[in-house]
Amino acid sequence: MATWTRRQVLAQMGLAAAAVHTLDPHELCCTVAAHAQTADKELFELKKVADGVYGAIAATRYKVNCNAAVILTDDGVVVVDSHSKPSASRVMYQQIQGLTKKPVVKVINTHFHWDHWQGNESYAATNPKLEIIASDKTKENLGKPDAGVGGVPYIEKQIANMPGEIDKLKADIQKEADPQKKQNLESNLRQAESFLQELKSMKPTLPTRTVATTLTLKEGGREIQLHVLGRGHTNGDLYTYLPKEKVIATGDALIDWMPFLNDGYPEDWVQTLTAVEKLDFASIIPGHGEVRPKSHLAFFRGYLSDLIAAVKKASAEGATLAEMQTKIGDQLAAKYEAGMSKYPLGRYRDRVGQNVEMVHKKVVQKA
Ligand SMILES: [Zn+2]
Ligand SMILES: [Zn+2]
Repeated sequence: MATWTRRQVLAQMGLAAAAVHTLDPHELCCTVAAHAQTADKELFELKKVADGVYGAIAATRYKVNCNAAVILTDDGVVVVDSHSKPSASRVMYQQIQGLTKKPVVKVINTHFHWDHWQGNESYAATNPKLEIIASDKTKENLGKPDAGVGGVPYIEKQIANMPGEIDKLKADIQKEADPQKKQNLESNLRQAESFLQELKSMKPTLPTRTVATTLTLKEGGREIQLHVLGRGHTNGDLYTYLPKEKVIATGDALIDWMPFLNDGYPEDWVQTLTAVEKLDFASIIPGHGEVRPKSHLAFFRGYLSDLIAAVKKASAEGATLAEMQTKIGDQLAAKYEAGMSKYPLGRYRDRVGQNVEMVHKKVVQKA
């Protein structure tokens, strides 16, 4: 597979780099507080979920990485999702090499968001015959300038945005008196600077094969089912299901944090999760957070449906957006705050206001 520079890929899509507008901070998903402690070196912890099936759980980084699912087969390795940058997927590849010397033969991208596919190029570099699989919609989104927080044109937005972010970190370091916070800011600044360099030299590596609804791979003695089950976190979420091992990798359609709704379809999402639930699995490898039992699906879906019901009720009663954000945030806290705030990012209070706004916009105003 030929790997092209980002500008060549944009040109092939008929897009000029300069024509891409800069990033609105509102569009950002998965940001950590500037002074949060993040991992400089340890990036992933491999957790065995079934025989030859691992969840690679991502440590908190200033620029977030997604988890990967690593599936060993007799013919080679299948990896679900490739993180936000080639350096992270290179580290992942080295860890996989500690499990098997067989090549990575397939990468599956669960959806188009930046933190799930920007490392594809590292795997392509290890194996010229690599197949990259995504849903039809995800492949389409990867080429669109306005699809949301991911895709080839989005890399230009990230590049445009990073210098301002770096300046802000430098200014924060100057002002910070607390030595621990200062140290964290300095680590995050180093991560931000190297991320910008990686973005500039990125060779966007796109799916070579797509799935419209379902694809069953008989992969070196293992059955791997790929399912598109409806709109949810995006319009093209792809689920990787191992029927024999009873494991599912869900991308961000089911995570162990608060959901990110900006590119999502809240009401469809609830329905789609009900379709996911019909599959017979015991363990979930989510897009972010730890490996979870099947029961986590009902908790996560419960948050979405309670949120939708609360926003509909409050707007029917004439509440303003600001009133709704405060009231609903408090109202749902007893049931969801603890379970949705287990990590330093994607916490309940960080996201509930934005979630209310998105449900109001997408479900009530139908914008
Ligand atoms: Zn993600
Ligand atoms: Zn996502």
